[in-house]
Amino acid sequence: MSDLKNPTDIAREALKRLAVRHLPPTPANYQACYNEIADLPNIPQFPESPLRQLASALIAHNSRQENQLDLLVAAIGQRSWQGVTDALIGFAQPDASEMVVSSDTGSLATLPAASALALARFIEALLPSFGTDNPRALAVAADLIQMLKQPQVEVVSVQNAMGTLTHHVRSVLEEQLEVRDSLLALLHLLIENVGELSEDDRWLKGQIDGLLASITPPLTLRHLDEMERRMRDVIDKQARAKTRSVSAQQEVRHMLAEFVESLAVMNQSSSEFEAKIEESARQIERVTSADELKCLLENVITVTHAMVEESASSRAQLKSLQVKVEITEAELLQLHQELDSASALARHDPLTDALNRKGLDEALVREISSMRRKETPLSVSLLDIDNFKKLNDSLGHEAGDGALVHLADVTRRHIRPSDTLARYGGEEFVILMPDTVLDDGIEVITRLQRELTKAIFMAGNEKVLITFSAGVAQVGAEESGSDAIRRADQAMYLAKRAGKNRVMGG
Ligand code: GH3
Ligand code: MG
Ligand code: MG
Repeated sequence: MSDLKNPTDIAREALKRLAVRHLPPTPANYQACYNEIADLPNIPQFPESPLRQLASALIAHNSRQENQLDLLVAAIGQRSWQGVTDALIGFAQPDASEMVVSSDTGSLATLPAASALALARFIEALLPSFGTDNPRALAVAADLIQMLKQPQVEVVSVQNAMGTLTHHVRSVLEEQLEVRDSLLALLHLLIENVGELSEDDRWLKGQIDGLLASITPPLTLRHLDEMERRMRDVIDKQARAKTRSVSAQQEVRHMLAEFVESLAVMNQSSSEFEAKIEESARQIERVTSADELKCLLENVITVTHAMVEESASSRAQLKSLQVKVEITEAELLQLHQELDSASALARHDPLTDALNRKGLDEALVREISSMRRKETPLSVSLLDIDNFKKLNDSLGHEAGDGALVHLADVTRRHIRPSDTLARYGGEEFVILMPDTVLDDGIEVITRLQRELTKAIFMAGNEKVLITFSAGVAQVGAEESGSDAIRRADQAMYLAKRAGKNRVMGG
């Protein structure tokens, strides 16, 4: 046919061929016949715009379908039929793992109603963790829940929908983790700033350092709780310091005003005195009789007396002001000392930074209610340093204090972050161990005993071996915290009786 060179001839021949083959006279068919006669390659036109419409109408239900949609869009961009075909087949076909076919009927299997309902409840329970800023994830979850509540649910559809939900949950979680990290960083910054503002306040500085240490990951609810309580202590202390300094300032301002006033009075009296003396001096020049002079002298004496009295009373006034200032200073100092010991009002023992009795009481209430709510075990241990009196007597009270700090440090290093250390009395400590049954609790405290033996305490140049005796009790379902501690105390007493440096279960 390539001998027909004339386009008009080719066109005529193409029309004839359309008729002979009974093809509909579409532009594509005409073009195909024309190309065939002209011996031209027949490249079909690429329907880019309808394909793009199709791609945007398709909705991916899982990450695999999302990938295929991306591939489809890329293939359309490259005008690749093969790419479009592969992407569409990939999009439409469920994965082999997703094909759950009932072996007896050959049809797609359905999920047992009870499982579907359980899954729906599970997803409903997850919803609050999505927060309110993720409408897309919430919508996907709501669709899935609705699907699961239908009478017949195909496993394949559930799996596809679960795939999509997983994808959303992952991104929600990633976002929440990022938000949490940034909030922590922000909190760190804020606390550091509060610390900077209060450079001169030793107590506050100590609390701030503790606070900073308590916000290092891993962040648990216990951690946050501890942080909140410490923060409250700091705020409380700052409020007191502020009230104190405002009232001190008012007092000093008042005293200054009084002082300036009496200075002015003194000044006025002495200028009046000078004027009177000057006047008297002028009159002396003019006196002519002894009587006149006598009268004048009497005047001068009276004025001088008055002046002397005035200055004496001013001096007395100043003196009393000075006394007042001293009293106020002493009061302020006492206030300050009281505030320093106000750390006793806080939940931490200032020496060891373990919880104090108040902190322990609160922690016990919290742990016991968590134990009852989650139906998990809780063990408590009471430990008492062996022969502590002897250590104090031979090496001094300071060395004794150092030993207490050392024990608290070693303990903190070897218990879990969820465990709580509290100073119960002089050289007695309580450890709360959630999720721990009695035998495990005994094991934890025995291990701590070994660790303490390894971590030698240095009192100056002297190596001191510190040991303790301990009792452990598992809190009973209906038991109070103080009763459990009492049982641990009895067990500790038995450990002492049995020769010290040992752990006993109560
Ligand atoms: P045992 O092995 O039987 O426990 O003997 P102990 O000497 O440890 O027992 P005891 O309870 O008789 O002595 C406790 C001593 O702890 C008495 C007290 O002086 C001392 N102590 C209490 N609190 C502190 C403190 O904060 N610092 C110092 N350095 N010593 C303290
Ligand atoms: Mg004791
Ligand atoms: Mg002791």
